[in-house]
Amino acid sequence: MDKQQEYVLRAIEERDIRFIRLWFTDVLGQLKSVAIAPAEVEGAFEEGIGFDGSAIEGLTRVFESDMLLSPDPSTFQMLPWREEVNSVARMFCDVLTPDGEPARTDPRAVLERQLARVADAGFTCYVHPEIEFYLVDRDGDGRIVPTDYAGYFDHVPGGTAHEFRRHAILMLEQMGISVEFSHHEGGPGQNEIDLRFADALSMADNIMTFRAVVQEVALQEGCQATFMPKPFIGQPGSGMHTHFSLFEGDRNAFHDPAGQYQLSATGRAFIAGLLHHATEICAVTNQHVNSYKRLWGGDEAPSYVCWGHNNRSALVRVPMHKPGKAQSVRIEFRGIDSSANPYLAFAVILAAGLKGIEEGYELPAEAEDTVWALSELERKSLGIGALPTSLKSAVAAMAESDLVADTLGEDAFEFFRRNKRREYLAYDAQVTDFEISQFFPRL
Ligand code: GLN
Ligand code: MG
Ligand code: MG
Ligand code: MG
Repeated sequence: MDKQQEYVLRAIEERDIRFIRLWFTDVLGQLKSVAIAPAEVEGAFEEGIGFDGSAIEGLTRVFESDMLLSPDPSTFQMLPWREEVNSVARMFCDVLTPDGEPARTDPRAVLERQLARVADAGFTCYVHPEIEFYLVDRDGDGRIVPTDYAGYFDHVPGGTAHEFRRHAILMLEQMGISVEFSHHEGGPGQNEIDLRFADALSMADNIMTFRAVVQEVALQEGCQATFMPKPFIGQPGSGMHTHFSLFEGDRNAFHDPAGQYQLSATGRAFIAGLLHHATEICAVTNQHVNSYKRLWGGDEAPSYVCWGHNNRSALVRVPMHKPGKAQSVRIEFRGIDSSANPYLAFAVILAAGLKGIEEGYELPAEAEDTVWALSELERKSLGIGALPTSLKSAVAAMAESDLVADTLGEDAFEFFRRNKRREYLAYDAQVTDFEISQFFPRL
């Protein structure tokens, strides 16, 4: 029993915690939870808790269904939306096979494996996401409608938005997740909350917690939250722009005072890796048929493979930072939406960036203009390619990718590919209201 495990056992006793939820995530990014009694926790630390993994999306094949959950004591937190007596806490878990090996399709294990590669290359990775989502109500016909008609940075008097953000942020802080920034976003009912940076694994855990908290608070406020990439036609989608930096010890490896925008050669090569592999990782960072409506729906979502400084049409941006603040030099990856599985998405993004560093990829010139305003020919002559326009083409690009196969591992890769193929085939088989309105004979 190590110190952290002892701390958890003591906290459970002192705070009268009656239920300990073991959290893990399936390949598609769905949070899973099983509650155990306090008396089981010591055993869970020592041997893991057995469960049948065959019913979990992508986790195992039926003939090897027994799996173990091994709780990570550093993630122990009370759930603040439960009452204080008979209270509830949670820990994130690693999923193990009965032999104690990491399960091949546990997304947390995929990210841990990638982070070991990042560490082997001498780096620690810091991440902070800007998470966009919509708050919605249901109208009399059960259709979803936004909770307000406000826009970017609007102050909404008496609206749900302020109350909601205040409650959500207080709850996140209670769970040890610091929030830096929050505001109303561009769409009606759309909000954004930006988390303070953390290491990549903690941040992926934090994002899963964030989604649970935001959904709980929305229900308390009498509405619903959605992380769907594009819930409303003609309104902005919900992105999850994520900022990355690599540190060597205390030194920001992306910083060079002499570099353009103070970005180092390492930072440039990292961006070059993201651009080079953008198409093949796209299915993982934008995993639903609906994701492509955000990517190609305008409103500051990236459609083309390029980088820039203050260019909000670019896939990768080097944000402005205060002069002299070497620690805050970073890159922002914008080709990821709020429904992505954060473990898998961070893993493929880091794999692409690291490959750029290892292979010394050259960074092409930055895009200075809005790339949407350029003609096809101009984009071609500048070497600016397009992101996939559908899940189908994104999966086709992914299927050819050694980088993604290697990063996800064969089992997760195969499961993901098959699942996404099912998704776009089912979607393609739909006959939509749009088709009826366009093609049904008008008498
Ligand atoms: N909603 C936009 C997206 O989907 C981003 C808008 C912004 O934050 N500038 O990426
Ligand atoms: Mg923002
Ligand atoms: Mg935003
Ligand atoms: Mg941004």
